[in-house]
Amino acid sequence: MAIKTKEEYIESLHKIGRNAFILGERVEDIVNHPINRPAVNAMAESYLLASENKANGVGRAVSYLTGEPVNRYNALSRSTDDLVLRGEMERAMGVRTAAGCPRSTGHDAINAVYSVAYEVDEKYGTEYLKRFQAWLEEVEKNDFSVSGAMTDVKGDRSRRPSAQDDPDMYLRVVKETPEGIVVRGAKAHQTGAVNCHEHLIMPTRGMTENDKAYAICFAISIDTPGLYHIYGRQPSDTRKLEPNASIDLGLPRFGGCETLMVFDDLFVPWERVFLNGEVEFTWPLVNRFAIGHRSSYGMAGAGVGDVMIGAAVAMAEANGVGKNKIIWDKIADLIIMSKMLYGLGLAAMVKGRPTPSGIYLADYVLGGVAKYNATHLPFSMSRLGQDICGGLVATMPGEADLRNEEIGKFIEKYLKGVSHIPTEHRMRMIRLVECMSMGSMSADLMTMGLHGAGSPYPQKMMVLADLQETIPQLVELAMYHAGILDEINAP
Ligand SMILES: Cc1cc2nc3c(=O)[nH]c(=O)nc-3n(C[C@H](O)[C@H](O)[C@H](O)COP(=O)(O)OP(=O)(O)OC[C@H]3O[C@@H](n4cnc5c(N)ncnc54)[C@H](O)[C@@H]3O)c2cc1C
Repeated sequence: MAIKTKEEYIESLHKIGRNAFILGERVEDIVNHPINRPAVNAMAESYLLASENKANGVGRAVSYLTGEPVNRYNALSRSTDDLVLRGEMERAMGVRTAAGCPRSTGHDAINAVYSVAYEVDEKYGTEYLKRFQAWLEEVEKNDFSVSGAMTDVKGDRSRRPSAQDDPDMYLRVVKETPEGIVVRGAKAHQTGAVNCHEHLIMPTRGMTENDKAYAICFAISIDTPGLYHIYGRQPSDTRKLEPNASIDLGLPRFGGCETLMVFDDLFVPWERVFLNGEVEFTWPLVNRFAIGHRSSYGMAGAGVGDVMIGAAVAMAEANGVGKNKIIWDKIADLIIMSKMLYGLGLAAMVKGRPTPSGIYLADYVLGGVAKYNATHLPFSMSRLGQDICGGLVATMPGEADLRNEEIGKFIEKYLKGVSHIPTEHRMRMIRLVECMSMGSMSADLMTMGLHGAGSPYPQKMMVLADLQETIPQLVELAMYHAGILDEINAP
């Protein structure tokens, strides 16, 4: 079974145990917990995309390992076409869920680890790639969803891992045995991880010789003893616990989730270890994971942005200003922002380049620029969405008021915009914008845009570092055009 259906994915979640906690309580049925179910649905959509060949078939690929059809989220990228199709898949997921896809970290981790394992083996004669391929074949064959876990909790940000007061602030090896390694630490903000089958764990930064115990990469199954998932709170999350909630959820079908993942002296067998102490390869690993993720943020952001554009147009219509030029000026801004994210993400993928292993990576500078724009454009888009909605986005009475026998008639009457659009539809659209701009999905649309795959400053560092060699040429160029130099080595 190389490609699971949505139903098979959900069934498989029931079969696998995990230590999961939501709001301080152990959760046995993660699939049907009302806070998590929308996030399960979003993950399931990636299975639907592949199994039903939706969105022009972008969700499936042919495995470079086995020649079998596989979910593209588990596939290696070996051409710019592969990168572009992956980007289009992210966009399709953004459009279909308004929540993006939690499997994207897995895809980026798979490609980054493969390319780095190849190079470590070349240098040290290790067997990391063989181990990794064996693991990946199992992942592809079972259509497991994989989370890419990179971000450590990091403690004191001014100190390196080995210089922390508490050595567990970065995930580390605490013991080696003939059978494997024992690891301790925690990974923060893990998107969709609690709804995955496997986790691919990577270091969070470039390590030095002193940080050797932190230079590790490995895979674990979600039911590994000693692994805990502690669910992150989102704005308005407890609305999902309200009986019969629908309108007030804003996005009733889909959602996102992050967990704090704790590794409490967890054992990893050697066949699942893909880096152990080769410190000089940690920075390439971090960088390659990040670049895949940065460029895909543009594409996913554009997909979710399309939902915001649709909501803005629907709201304008419901408010009776659907043909107003001032409103359309704002909608044009929304479209331009969404297209900017799409275009930059796409450009980074089209300009991708191969690594020695044959894995293609998106262009570092363009990917960094795409991600830098994703750190602020979703905020501007949310502002425009709220602007067009009007103040009700923050003050509207709830679904229970609409259903109340005594006051429901007032809500029905006074929350109406134009006559031909039902009050409930107007309320739903307002709640959607609320959810995306300051409710539970603002974590995905805005904060994930801001910090996911690196906060704004690292994007600038990436752009500056990559252009270091070019900048003196640009100065010469300016001197030539200013008449200071007579000739230049123009490219
Ligand atoms: C919604 C969401 C989903 C995410 N999903 C995932 C995921 O699935 N997998 C994963 O691995 N990670 C994930 N991340 C993590 C993301 O990559 C991190 O949030 C990001 O790298 C920033 O790290 P931090 O949150 O620890 O913030 P910090 O590192 O504390 O950064 C906060 C601010 O301090 C600045 N700063 C930090 N250190 C220094 C320093 N030494 N000097 C000067 N300034 C500094 C930063 O630039 C930033 O402005 C997710 C994050 C979010 C918000």
